[in-house]
This record gives sequence, C-alpha cells and structure tokens, in this order.
Amino acid sequence: MYPLIEIDLKKVEENAKKITTLFRSMGIDIMAVTKGFSADEKIVTALTRGNVEYLADSRLMNLKKMKGFPLKKVLLRLPMASEVNELVRYADYSMNSELSTLKEIGRASWRNRTVHKVIVMIDLGDHREGIQPKNLDQFVAEAVKIKGVEIRGFGVNMTCFSGVIPEQQTLIKLVKLTREMEEKYQLNIEMISGGSSSSVYLINEGGIPEGISNLRLGEVILLGTETAYGKNFINLHEDIFTLRTQIIEIKDKPSMPKGLMGKDAFGHEPVHEDRGILRRAIVALGRQDADPDGVIPSNSKIKILGASSDHMIVDITDDPEHYEVGDIMSFKLKYSGLLRAMTSPYVEKVYLNEEVNLGILPLVSDL
Ligand SMILES: *Cc1c(COP(=O)(O)O)cnc(C)c1O
Repeated sequence: MYPLIEIDLKKVEENAKKITTLFRSMGIDIMAVTKGFSADEKIVTALTRGNVEYLADSRLMNLKKMKGFPLKKVLLRLPMASEVNELVRYADYSMNSELSTLKEIGRASWRNRTVHKVIVMIDLGDHREGIQPKNLDQFVAEAVKIKGVEIRGFGVNMTCFSGVIPEQQTLIKLVKLTREMEEKYQLNIEMISGGSSSSVYLINEGGIPEGISNLRLGEVILLGTETAYGKNFINLHEDIFTLRTQIIEIKDKPSMPKGLMGKDAFGHEPVHEDRGILRRAIVALGRQDADPDGVIPSNSKIKILGASSDHMIVDITDDPEHYEVGDIMSFKLKYSGLLRAMTSPYVEKVYLNEEVNLGILPLVSDL
C-alpha cells in the first residue's frame, strides 16, 4: 500500500561500517542516533552490524524498544523528572544539565540498586541545552555529591537550534573544560562527546581535536551527508530511503487561486506566483506522512507546490508526458522528511536486502 518508504538495509550497514572504521582509527567511538527512524528494529540491527558502539535516542520509549540489543543505551534529550524510574532501567547514560533532575535520577538509581552514568552538557554557543562554561565548576562541585549518579563525560550540542557550526576551537574548549573538571574533581571520564553530524566536516578542516572520543551520529549515517554544509561525506550512500506514492489526479489548473483569499489549512497565508496554466498532479501524500519541505522529487523536472494534511500538489508542467493517474511518484528524503515518514503509521515500511542484512541466503524461488 502507498505511501511507502523503501529502506535499503545493506546500505545502512555499509554506511555505518565506513563511519565506524574511519572514526575508530582516530580513537572516536560512535553513538548511532536512532530517533530519525523511531528506532525501527531492522534498521537498528543493520547499524549494530555496522559496528556502532552505542545506541542513542532522545525518547525513552525508543530506548525501551531497543532493550534487546546488547549495546550501551544513551538518552540524548535531558531527562524529564517524571521519567527517571524508567531512565535508570532503560538507559546506561543520559545527557544532563540540571542538578534537581540529577537528584531525582540519584534517588531512582538508589531504588533500582544501580549507578546511572551522566554526560554533562556544556553550552558553547548554540544555546539549546547545556551549562554556561562560567557556571560549570559550581555545577560539577554539586553534582559529584549526589549519590547514584556518576559523571562519565562531557558533551556539546551544536547546530540543532541556532544553526551554529562547531569549529575546531569549540571542541578544543570542550576538551579543556573536561580536563579541568576531571583533574579538580578526580572524575572517571570515559568520553568527551564532540557533537553530531555537524561536527564530522572538521575532518577536512584541520581535524577533530585530540581528546574528543565520541560523536553522536544520525543524519550522516542515514542520508550520507554531513549537516554543517550538506555535503556528501566519505562517499557514503545517499539513497538509503525512497518514499513512493501514487498519483490520484492530473489536471491543468491556473497557478493563481480564484476567489477571496484567506489562510490555508495550517494558518499560513500562501503566496502564489502567476505562471499561467500549470499541469498539476496530486499524489496521495500529506503533511501527516511527510514534511513537504523535507522531500525532493526524484525527477528533477518536477516541483512540489505545496501540501495539506493528505494531499501533495506537484507541478509536472516541465515533464507532462511522463505521468498518468495511477503512476507511482518517488521522492528522496531530507532529515525532516525521513523523521515524519518513519514516524507516520500511514507510511508502510518496505525493507530491501533484509536477507543480506540478516546473513540469510535468499531462497531459490519456484519457477
Ligand atoms: C539528534 C541529536 C543528535 C544527532 O544529530 P544528527 O544531526 O542526526 O547527527 C546528537 N545529539 C543530540 C543531543 C541530539 O538530540
């Protein structure tokens, strides 16, 4: 049934393998970030076959789903005080920046007879989560007194909120702050986590500084592109995912709407450019299935004009011969498109190369 998303599991494994091999040679371990695909079990299997060291997600629900995988689990989003009991059961590590939450985690660990490992987040300019460097000493001084939690690393998050690209200097600062805290408070530091897919470009720009021992990677493994400049990274596959759906209408219609203008279904006031009569296709795909800004038609001659909850309008004027009602239209995905398509229960997931992935030989079919 359409819409569907095709997922090539062999390519997932190959991308993961290339990345883990490269970074391991630099002493950097990889956390595979699974939130972009709701921790889909088959994709996680492919990633583990690609030798990633940790599985990391921003949702505890996804970590719970992955409890059967024998890898260390990391909660990426700062924990909610209301989820600490589940946190200490399903995550080995979490990112933190609040003492009150650490105290809650400490109590939950105590009840669960465990010690929870903490990565302290430092804000080095993107201003999403993290402690300001000037307040770090005071934070660590208090945090080391809390029983049931143990600081095992420091990390930084960049780009996601403000779009700030990490520079070599940013990561040097992270290493320096970590070393100061490690020495002053005699911490048992396992990792310095230097960011996400927006940090990998640094390999070509003077390098990732000595001391960085961990990266948290989603986008670059799944889409093959780094996030800082959107370029392909070390020849990774960029076509792991393909979204396909069916055309339900093709008609010539004016580019300018007719009638009194108000807001669209999502409260925006659409802007229209008069380009005369366009040949337009409607495909069975809406905002519930994919973000229209997050999908790219595989045919470069056609353009997305917009979408409502369940319909996407595509301009096929420049390639009209190609399409009939009932044909299947394909799309490449950006990160936001992938996220929505993988989360939507309306989008069927179709796996390619599953037998390769599971190491099972394909059966010879009856002829
Ligand atoms: C989502 C997330 C990542 C991964 O980001 P990518 O751009 O997909 O590599 C890393 N760290 C944190 C804290 C995140 O929330």
